[in-house]
Amino acid sequence: MANANLYALLQAGFAADRDSTAIETPARHYSWNDIERISACYANLLESLRLPAGARVAVQVEKSPEALMLYLATLRAGFVYLPLNTAYREAEIEYFLRDAEPSVVVCSPANLSWVSELAGRCGASQVYTLDEHGAGTLDEASADEDERFETVASQPDDLAAILYTSGTTGRSKGAMLSHRNLYSNAQVLNSYWGWTGDDVLLHMLPIFHVHGLFVGAHGALLAGARMIWLPKLDIEQALHYLPRCTVMMGVPTYYVRLLAEPRFTRELCAGMRLFVSGSAPLLADTFNAFRERTGHTILERYGMSETVMLTSNPYDESEGPRIAGTVGRPLPGVQVRVVNDDDIPLGPGLIGKVQVRGPNVFSGYWRMPEKTREEFTADGWFRTGDVGRWGSILDDDGQVIQAIPDHYLSIVGRSKDLIITGGFNVYPKEIESFIDELPGVVESAVIGVPHADFGEAVVAVVVAEPGRTVDPQAVQASLKRQIANFKVPKHIVVVDQLPRNTMGKVQKNVLRETYASLG
Ligand code: AMP
Repeated sequence: MANANLYALLQAGFAADRDSTAIETPARHYSWNDIERISACYANLLESLRLPAGARVAVQVEKSPEALMLYLATLRAGFVYLPLNTAYREAEIEYFLRDAEPSVVVCSPANLSWVSELAGRCGASQVYTLDEHGAGTLDEASADEDERFETVASQPDDLAAILYTSGTTGRSKGAMLSHRNLYSNAQVLNSYWGWTGDDVLLHMLPIFHVHGLFVGAHGALLAGARMIWLPKLDIEQALHYLPRCTVMMGVPTYYVRLLAEPRFTRELCAGMRLFVSGSAPLLADTFNAFRERTGHTILERYGMSETVMLTSNPYDESEGPRIAGTVGRPLPGVQVRVVNDDDIPLGPGLIGKVQVRGPNVFSGYWRMPEKTREEFTADGWFRTGDVGRWGSILDDDGQVIQAIPDHYLSIVGRSKDLIITGGFNVYPKEIESFIDELPGVVESAVIGVPHADFGEAVVAVVVAEPGRTVDPQAVQASLKRQIANFKVPKHIVVVDQLPRNTMGKVQKNVLRETYASLG
């Protein structure tokens, strides 16, 4: 049987000319040979440590091509890669190390002293450093290793990575992803988004997250396409490199920031074929402004750490238009349904919980069998925690407000964001979309805060356009004309910006804390 190791499968797509450039940074070009050679040295080093089968390699380092090669080396050696957000501080890292019990920890040189101390307490046998230039003790220790390594044979269900959920609410859980989960998704996206070896990906996303590591890097590696590798969103660098690129992936903030730059023009994007957005909802205003400015229609897709990618707006126009505010259609091989509280599938127009099934869906949460059981139905559907709707937006009387084809999915919110006020369910996204349409409003976040009578009271936090004022009473009056009274926010707070995490997600837990006393 063919080797199911993800590295071996990705490697089959590497450019035939191994001396050509695979990764380009402002400082250096790395060829496909370099990827094979450096990942082999790291893999030999990992193998020499005689780690137990299934050992975890936890990595909290700044983005660099070598960090990607460490990921590939971990796959090659048959171990489990555990990337950690560089924003996490000591207390958070302690939780992950205790929970995952990695054998090897790789950290930034600046954090070595506290990470070593923590890693020792959590049972790790080795700590290495890797800085943003690829230097550190990992490089030193692997310098004399053999530049060839025979990638170990893996089974499709062997664990390849553990991704801790971003944890904007509750305890972070480790999603266990197998070689099959990751490869099946990489393959589907490779054909659905039309990747070829001529593509050049502008890679500015972090690589501790599904978006940058799996969607972005796997896409380019499997296609044998070049990546322009920047440590983070950098508008000057983006303007410099865009004319040479064909694909860019970003969280919505990246597109907002590009549009804020007058030098970001249609001409600059002339060679581009695909802009992808995901990880958080893309505002219709951004979608429209982007199309007007560049002539390109951003392709919005939906996925998560536990499942990699689930749905996508069409790439090929013949399959239908890309529709703002929707996340498109299930990817080939992925099943998606919207259900009621009894797990009964709902038809178009009705709001319910999103459940998914497919070869891309993870096997469970690391050392949380109970939680895993809760999150899967008896027949294997994963409860995503997202709330969604097929097709058109309807008003409370069932009249169509916005017509959308039935097979397009829209994400209406997270089920844990659901507000229950006086026994009525309020889906924040629904209220937000009404508020966002009002003049002078950039965006909004609707939350529930404790309320003595109603259990929860609806509060809207609204960002006004620069130089415009938004009158809370006028917003309430306008909403009262459109939606049921119980959904109309009791309080409207106008702010300059919403708190967001590194992946651009609005931190509703922060808002709930800040405005807890308003109820
Ligand atoms: P993460 O595991 O950090 O990638 O977060 C996954 C969550 O991000 C999903 O469960 C959704 O709530 C949200 N998400 C991802 N893509 C989108 C999108 N295009 N629109 C709305 N929410 C999204």
